[in-house]
Amino acid sequence: MARIEGELSPKRWKHTVGVVKEAKLLARLNGADEQKAELAAYCHDLAKEFSKKKNRDYIRSCALPSRYLDYPQLAHGGVAAVVLQNEYNIQDEDILNAVRYHSTGRENMSLLEKIIYIADLIEEGRQYEGLEAIRKLARADLNEGLKLALTEVIAFVRQQGKEPDETSIKALAYLQRPEKGGQMDNKQIAEAVCRVLDDKKGTDIVMLDLSVKSSFCDYFIIVTGSSDRQVRTLSEEAEEKLAQLGVPCKNIEGKNTGWILLDYGDVIISVFTADQREKYNLEQIWTEVEHERNQAL
Ligand code: FE
Ligand code: FE
Repeated sequence: MARIEGELSPKRWKHTVGVVKEAKLLARLNGADEQKAELAAYCHDLAKEFSKKKNRDYIRSCALPSRYLDYPQLAHGGVAAVVLQNEYNIQDEDILNAVRYHSTGRENMSLLEKIIYIADLIEEGRQYEGLEAIRKLARADLNEGLKLALTEVIAFVRQQGKEPDETSIKALAYLQRPEKGGQMDNKQIAEAVCRVLDDKKGTDIVMLDLSVKSSFCDYFIIVTGSSDRQVRTLSEEAEEKLAQLGVPCKNIEGKNTGWILLDYGDVIISVFTADQREKYNLEQIWTEVEHERNQAL
């Protein structure tokens, strides 16, 4: 442990000790191996204070995903796992994976991986809005706590104007899969988006079912926001919901035009200000397309 302490600043070491304490508690509550949880927690931020250059060198030499070259900090778990295996002779795959994925999560996480991911976020030294809710839920139900934590982290990253790590988005989508009945179909996805738009006070929500009429998309949703600002909010809320559901975004257009178009392939959403909606009158266009089709048949 002294060797790890030597790699870290006093502040980071204090955080690490907090993570150890929380990880051991969560291990006890969930019947996991406390010793493994302790070791993984001690090691999790080993590479956090490596220089950007050192992290980048490891990313290149260890074939970590190249997208991390622009955000070497995000790879500190992956880099730490490599260092632990090569220089600390830790070979336990579960411990290495818990360290590797502690800042992103991933699909189908092991119990230990979940414990370290959560402990890192809720240790006693942390301070942020919403922390208490995550802490309470995670101690009562690890999976539900993890779901909430991933949701909040993804939302936070988006608020900063950044794109959340795709591994985290997949991790959340995996946890949200309905346990029975498989994946949601396009109609259920579109309905979930409509519910969010309604919750956020979007008006005149229309969901056109084009699944039999068009090869363009299956469901086309139109909603009005009361101002440019609300148009942006509605668009962001829809984006967040679709990210939670694991639906990949193809394109987003028109962020400053009073008409934001979110293209998710089979589900497309148009968020308008009232005057733009009237101007383009998309519902009318679709009705005419249908009319022409009927004439042609
Ligand atoms: Fe970390
Ligand atoms: Fe940490």
